[in-house]
Amino acid sequence: MTPNSRRTFLFQLAAGAATLGLGRFALAEEAKPALDPNDAYAKAMGFVVNTADADAAKFPKHSTDQSCVNCQLYSGADGAELGPCSFFGGRQVPPTGWCRNHKPKGAPA
Ligand code: SF4
Repeated sequence: MTPNSRRTFLFQLAAGAATLGLGRFALAEEAKPALDPNDAYAKAMGFVVNTADADAAKFPKHSTDQSCVNCQLYSGADGAELGPCSFFGGRQVPPTGWCRNHKPKGAPA
């Protein structure tokens, strides 16, 4: 191996290692924490962990068939205990939850 090809080989090795490192970093993007129902903004949006606990007086259009699992903004996996809600910046919400921004799946955004 000539010094030039050795240098090229070492450079490619380092570049490959760096690429693998970046790939691992991207895959390791951590899930956001669970949304705290006592968070001021969550409260303002009427967020509850269980849709049955929504304030009927404040949110007369709410119905118990509305929950995070059937909201367009929820992207949790089937059967997951929590899933990200894009409305709350990816914070985790339970499929049973609800907030006043509920958007039924299939409805225009
Ligand atoms: S926007 Fe949808 S998924 Fe997010 S908390 Fe409200 S009802 Fe649940």
